[in-house]
Amino acid sequence: MRDQLGREIDYMRISLTDRCNLRCGYCMPRCGVPSVPHEMILRFDEIIRLVNIFCSMGVKNVKITGGEPLVRKNASALIGEMKSISGIEKVTMTTNGILLSENLEALAEAGLDGINISLDTLNRNKYLKITGSDGLDTVLKAIDRCRAFPQIKLKINTVTMADYNRDEICALADFAADCGASIRFIEMMPIGLGAGFDGYSQDEIIAALEEAYGPAKIINEKVGSGPAQYFEFEGYRGRVGFISPMSHKFCQSCNRIRLTSEGLLKPCLGSNEGIDLRKPLREGLTDEKLADIIKQGIYRKPAGHCFPATNSLMSKIGG
Ligand code: SAM
Ligand code: SF4
Repeated sequence: MRDQLGREIDYMRISLTDRCNLRCGYCMPRCGVPSVPHEMILRFDEIIRLVNIFCSMGVKNVKITGGEPLVRKNASALIGEMKSISGIEKVTMTTNGILLSENLEALAEAGLDGINISLDTLNRNKYLKITGSDGLDTVLKAIDRCRAFPQIKLKINTVTMADYNRDEICALADFAADCGASIRFIEMMPIGLGAGFDGYSQDEIIAALEEAYGPAKIINEKVGSGPAQYFEFEGYRGRVGFISPMSHKFCQSCNRIRLTSEGLLKPCLGSNEGIDLRKPLREGLTDEKLADIIKQGIYRKPAGHCFPATNSLMSKIGG
């Protein structure tokens, strides 16, 4: 369906939980988040019912997120069910990779189309400082295991942090190319705890990559189902993606909506607005009535983000 500005909404991010086994300083407080009572979290059958409704309205691609989606038991079963919905073309997941190795086989069997692994540094001490966990080796092993599942498209997501990974731009890009993955640099957004961090911009990354590999060439055809813009560099073996909401605002072509683990429909990441779907779902509304609520919510999607408009934690919204 289209919103009031004519933007076609066909991509949905679904958060399975706001819990996480890491504590990335820009996303989640070190003390964690107050736990949400079990009954306030959407059940899998409720999520599937909503995905069916969203799909009937034009959603084709789903990204599973969190918190950390793999801390929720049986995430792969949910993915398998989503993949069997006629009209859903791709189901992908973003994960910190800590629990990935033991879940990979089940995720592949469920038909997962892609995995984005969050990796902000290749340095063990920095990883510990950023995430609060000595887990870098575990993540690197999981990334290596992904080679056995070439049907699952692999991407590495790196959030820009001036104090941590400005000096690792090329190292991270080389690492991704060695793994057969594309790397995407995500500009730090001043959402929740992210407001306390300095990022750096797409242009600065391109300059660093051009110095190392030679001239950049923008890829004009659409790559992936989200807002990332991709570049090739003369001497670089892969593609580099950018999600740059700060320096290259892409709101006018935004095609995404979000569903939180508690059942809030969020038409925009950078806005406090959220439409409760859990209550009407549990009150027994028909699919048609739920579709009406969803349509109104999507229709009113804000024209653009106005950071820092929300102090919600990113772990609650799902990135
Ligand atoms: N735990 C999973 C992970 O880390 O991939 C999924 C949830 S996480 C909230 C989704 C993405 O949001 C991650 O790539 C993370 O790095 C990114 N993220 C979190 N806070 C951010 C911020 N303030 N600015 C930009 N990206 C952020
Ligand atoms: Fe957890 Fe992902 Fe947030 Fe890091 S970015 S704290 S891994 S939800």
